[in-house]
Amino acid sequence: MKSVTVVGASLAGVAAARALRDQGFDGRITMIGDEVHQPYDRPPLSKAFLLGDESAVPLDVDDLDLDWRLGCAATGLSGTTVSTVSGDVTADAVVIATGASAIRLPGTIGVDGIHVLRSLDDALALRSSLVPGVRVTVVGAGFIGSEVASTALRLGASVTVVEASKTPLARVFGGELGSLIAGWHRNAGATLLTGVSVAGFVVEAGRVRAVELADGSTIESDVVVLGVGSVPNVDWLDGAELEICGGVVTDQRGITSNPAVLAVGDCAAVRDAAGVIRRDEHWTSAATRPAVAVEALLTGGSTRFTGLPYVWSDQYAARIQFAGHHGPHCVAEIVEGDPATGPFVALYRHDNHPVAVLAVSSPRSFGKWRRQVVDTANPTA
Ligand SMILES: Cc1cc2nc3c(=O)[nH]c(=O)nc-3n(C[C@H](O)[C@H](O)[C@H](O)COP(=O)(O)OP(=O)(O)OC[C@H]3O[C@@H](n4cnc5c(N)ncnc54)[C@H](O)[C@@H]3O)c2cc1C
Repeated sequence: MKSVTVVGASLAGVAAARALRDQGFDGRITMIGDEVHQPYDRPPLSKAFLLGDESAVPLDVDDLDLDWRLGCAATGLSGTTVSTVSGDVTADAVVIATGASAIRLPGTIGVDGIHVLRSLDDALALRSSLVPGVRVTVVGAGFIGSEVASTALRLGASVTVVEASKTPLARVFGGELGSLIAGWHRNAGATLLTGVSVAGFVVEAGRVRAVELADGSTIESDVVVLGVGSVPNVDWLDGAELEICGGVVTDQRGITSNPAVLAVGDCAAVRDAAGVIRRDEHWTSAATRPAVAVEALLTGGSTRFTGLPYVWSDQYAARIQFAGHHGPHCVAEIVEGDPATGPFVALYRHDNHPVAVLAVSSPRSFGKWRRQVVDTANPTA
């Protein structure tokens, strides 16, 4: 193999390039990215960077000897030839690492004051509007919405959070523990409205003035942040003859239906041992799985992804850590601490097997309990 094209110049793409070099590949690596910026890390964008840290955290790429094509969107894939806005790039193999985009609600594109938060440019635009006293409405109390709400309050904004479910993060943590996060929002001074969805936006002269809710009420807003999830960036692969199902489908090594094409990071959907297809949208999967995929590409090896899905989040002075697979039939038990008063650990069981762990501000205990969790996506690992 003499050449590899990586599409998506961010965490998973850079991790793939690093794995290629670490595993002895000395051929040409072409790195195609549609953003003009050098690769940077996204988690600080809703935390330290939004609070005013001057620069985004760059990803280390200096020693990788890459052929850069930044500001250059890929528009198609045929075999191992990538079409871009500036011409075709042919290589022996392709790594798809195009990540995901924040979902925008109908009627919000191009409206001043309505933001999403996925990229450095999004964060710069949002940061400039978070001034003391500004009225911010955050739509969605998931990880990013909750982090933005927490950061905006620290910056002196007046914050309302609107969540369609009965409790924040219920899909990830279950309703009981989600209601704890509801308490954090309220204790910190945010107004949290749950069980109500957004019906529309009042826009005057191209600028948002208010958010309209399905119950008929309105929230006057200077700034609106949409934190309603993301979609994998796979539209550019229309006609590429790859299996797409909520992401680019791969086996448990990261190989797609074309053995010369890998998919890693937020755009990848991994079919597990039981045939279930899952997309992990977390930093750790994007950072670690490319090394396994690259090994499979270079050696044909059979090493599979191991390790539980893991996510952390910083909200309201709490460090949340979660690992495992939580489903609707899991039962949560507090095994350490007390959610009412401070740090705690909750273990989720399914059929009496520990399948996930949630720790709040308890990093040491998290490590201990995490070792007990069964990887239901990879039972023999
Ligand atoms: C604000 C924010 C905070 C986060 N905080 C946390 C956290 O606290 N903990 C945690 O575990 N995870 C967190 N995450 C998630 C984590 O950052 C992502 O899982 C990770 O960035 C995924 O990396 P990726 O390389 O797969 O995708 P991305 O980082 O999305 O990168 C994909 C790149 O591909 C580019 N691209 C897309 N389409 C094309 C195309 N057609 N041609 C060329 N380039 C293209 C994109 O512009 C982008 O540069 C956060 C994410 C965000 C946005």
